[in-house]
Amino acid sequence: MTSPTPAETGDGTPSSKPSNFLRQIIERDLAQGTYAQRRWAGSPGDAQHQQAGQPDPARIRTRFPPEPNGYLHVGHAKSICLNFGLARDYGGVCHLRFDDTNPEKEELEYVESIKDAVQWLGFGWDAHGTSHLYQASDYFDVMYRAAEYLVEAGLAYVDEQTPEQMRANRGDFSRPGVDSPFRSRSVDENLQRLRAMRDGQLPDGAAVLRAKIDMASPNINLRDPALYRIKHAEHHNTGSKWCIYPMYTFAHPIEDALENITHSICTLEFEDQRPFYDWLLDRLREGGLINTPQPRQHEFARLNLTYVVTSKRKLKQLVDEKHVSGWDDPRMPTIVGLRRRGYTPEAIQLFAERIGVTKSDSWIDYSTLDGCLREDLENKAHRGMAVLDPVKLVLTNWAEAFGTDGYTEPCTQPALPHSAIAEGQTPPPDRVFQIGKEVWIEREDFEEVPPKGYKRLFPGNVVRLKGGYVIECTGCAKDAAGNVTEVHAKVIPGTKSGTPGADSVKAKAAITWVGVADGVSAEVRLYDRLFTDPQPDAGGKNFLDALNPDSLKVVTAYVEPSLAAAKPDQKFQFERHGYFVADRVDHGVEGKVVFNRVTGLKDSWAR
Ligand code: ATP
Ligand code: MG
Repeated sequence: MTSPTPAETGDGTPSSKPSNFLRQIIERDLAQGTYAQRRWAGSPGDAQHQQAGQPDPARIRTRFPPEPNGYLHVGHAKSICLNFGLARDYGGVCHLRFDDTNPEKEELEYVESIKDAVQWLGFGWDAHGTSHLYQASDYFDVMYRAAEYLVEAGLAYVDEQTPEQMRANRGDFSRPGVDSPFRSRSVDENLQRLRAMRDGQLPDGAAVLRAKIDMASPNINLRDPALYRIKHAEHHNTGSKWCIYPMYTFAHPIEDALENITHSICTLEFEDQRPFYDWLLDRLREGGLINTPQPRQHEFARLNLTYVVTSKRKLKQLVDEKHVSGWDDPRMPTIVGLRRRGYTPEAIQLFAERIGVTKSDSWIDYSTLDGCLREDLENKAHRGMAVLDPVKLVLTNWAEAFGTDGYTEPCTQPALPHSAIAEGQTPPPDRVFQIGKEVWIEREDFEEVPPKGYKRLFPGNVVRLKGGYVIECTGCAKDAAGNVTEVHAKVIPGTKSGTPGADSVKAKAAITWVGVADGVSAEVRLYDRLFTDPQPDAGGKNFLDALNPDSLKVVTAYVEPSLAAAKPDQKFQFERHGYFVADRVDHGVEGKVVFNRVTGLKDSWAR
């Protein structure tokens, strides 16, 4: 575990965030003034552009670089919290960069959903009077110039081997690669062929531009990696201007350099790419193409969360095959799904902080996320009573006690418990609900023949209707099949909560209830984990085999009036049941009351 050490914050006040290796690297760079002399012209660009600018007002620059080809998931949330969080804490700026160097059709829907997700999580890209929202395809011109520079410097060549030959000649871990016959072409010939590629004179796959590094390198990524490939395809941003597109490993370091990124943070899979990242930026720096000092790449372990899958392809399959209702199905680990389920940005930020960043892969138990949600909502979510499996309780002596069967009496309970109110904070107004002759109770709160130790309703037992009166159970009514259709009890007048007589009769238990008079019928969606296997797709398993058949149960419940008045997205603690949210899509539509269960009050999966 990491220990809390003071970290600098953007505004210079110390914070006590747990330290980690990335914070240590940044703090060291700041202490040494590694990036202190850099200039920034207000927008991304090459060395000449940036040198004409001002001293960079951002002490560090990080970036979150999604490919806009799907909805973001909880793993991306970790990366967002990390990159934007570090920039915030150290007086820096985090860029949102759409990595759209692939000419595949970019869907506007994804771009918008990614922007929404970042903002919903509590972050933004505006700083120092500029919007730091960028798209990598805007850098194609500079990337191509960098490619010609490498050719001119004798550091790249056009390879016209077939893809099969190229693969075979790359070698493997035990065998060094073999030089391509095209490797020794002259600079002039390379330049000519690169321009022929660019000008559309060659078909897809006929040639690639490769860096000339070392075909015998023990790091296969340095065996003359491809920089540009031919792809006659329209690009959403650049149209038909290009028919060659940069490879990710070539494009990414240049994107970082043009944007003055200081700390380029990525997941561990890219560790083996770091030598090429550095090789490329070293060469471009020597050529005077990029601003200095150049960005550095740092890798951290990606988030693996139990009971979910986080591959975009698999998530898409769940949607396409209708195992879930859509990308925002509350069982999906997408950010839109987590949001609709009722997870809060604060809980996700807390989660990201708590799991920290490490250099080695591990699995985080899903219950950690739920723990963060409970921690966030414990003092925030208003309480309310809901009966999820209702049976009617009839107080048979009601008219005798209060004059008429139709009499109802208001009961009040605090919206938040005393412990949730901070010193000096005004508590929210009390909830008000009516008690009458008939109330809804949970079916499990009555037993005709009580099991040992049962304290709730059974004939002869005395309990309190929470916030209302003490009652004594007298029996029940049943249908022909023997199912309980009504529970019967007698109200004991003078025992109402909050009155002097409240303690005059001792109750064995307090049970939750909702009045028949003012209770509102609600659709409650009881969500559970989508998979029964903690690692549904590990080791080549078919994740669909582990789908939990009980991941959604829909019940018709009764809720007290304060809950029925919820706004979409509002979170509550249903007493004894857990945390619930008014569904942001369906709640309130045609007057319907719809709640989703976020999670229980305690971890029901822990054994
Ligand atoms: P997927 O594998 O689901 O398609 P991806 O990595 O291809 O995701 P990108 O759009 O390239 O998706 O990711 C944007 C950023 O999010 C990258 O910097 C990547 O490192 C980070 N990221 C993706 N998945 C995770 C994860 N599970 N944990 C932490 N960071 C992640
Ligand atoms: Mg990716």
